[in-house]
Amino acid sequence: MTVSLAPRATVRRGHDELRALAEAGNIELGSLTDHEASPAEVVAWVASNFGADAAAVACSMADAALPHLVAEQLPGVDVLFLDTGYHFAETRVTRDEVGRALDVRIVDVLPTQTVAEQDAEFGEKLYSRDPGLCCARRKVEPLQDALGGYEVWFTGVRREEAPTRANTPLIAWDERNGLVKVNPVAAWSFDDLLDYAGLHQVPVNLLVSNGYPSIGCEPCTARVEPGADPRSGRWAGLSKTECGLHL
Ligand code: SF4
Repeated sequence: MTVSLAPRATVRRGHDELRALAEAGNIELGSLTDHEASPAEVVAWVASNFGADAAAVACSMADAALPHLVAEQLPGVDVLFLDTGYHFAETRVTRDEVGRALDVRIVDVLPTQTVAEQDAEFGEKLYSRDPGLCCARRKVEPLQDALGGYEVWFTGVRREEAPTRANTPLIAWDERNGLVKVNPVAAWSFDDLLDYAGLHQVPVNLLVSNGYPSIGCEPCTARVEPGADPRSGRWAGLSKTECGLHL
């Protein structure tokens, strides 16, 4: 499918209406209960309450399970790729494969500065001195700008990934970005994710089978030993554990 550089514009409902919809949906889908809806049922709820033009999928291009899951019921949906300028070559290859293999529209979300411009203003390797600022400028702020064109976004956040994610609901009102946030695979394990990708033969980043179960920017992602915490390779040696997208 087409690779585009700009998100779609769409007519948005007001915050109060969207917030109420998120709260009702979370209850309807039994979020965080023992009768919680399946990922496909969560996507079906979105498809019945939002148009494809109003929805976006955030994808780090570690795998295409989430875009596939969503595109099954919202064909042509936008997939937002945060093009930080620091990605592994394998991640960029995966992004291109996803655009070819799935019925989605890839949207490259760019920071306001190139890496060279950031280096000129802040000095080289800002990620090693102030990763919080680097993530804010290259991920959080660009995503916030991009999400302004949508009513709902999907994330691949899973509860088992980190203690900070243990209580992730299926549906939430995203106050910071002003839209509904949907986490359809919140209950999935890493194996569930790989099983889905294998069953549906969707693209998976080559790094996943090479010791990188969690993939971010190259300077901030290290290989982890088998059995180790999958996210322990992210900002290894620093207290930072999240890029700030899912606070
Ligand atoms: S993950 Fe590292 S390189 Fe990427 S935006 Fe954050 S600090 Fe910068």
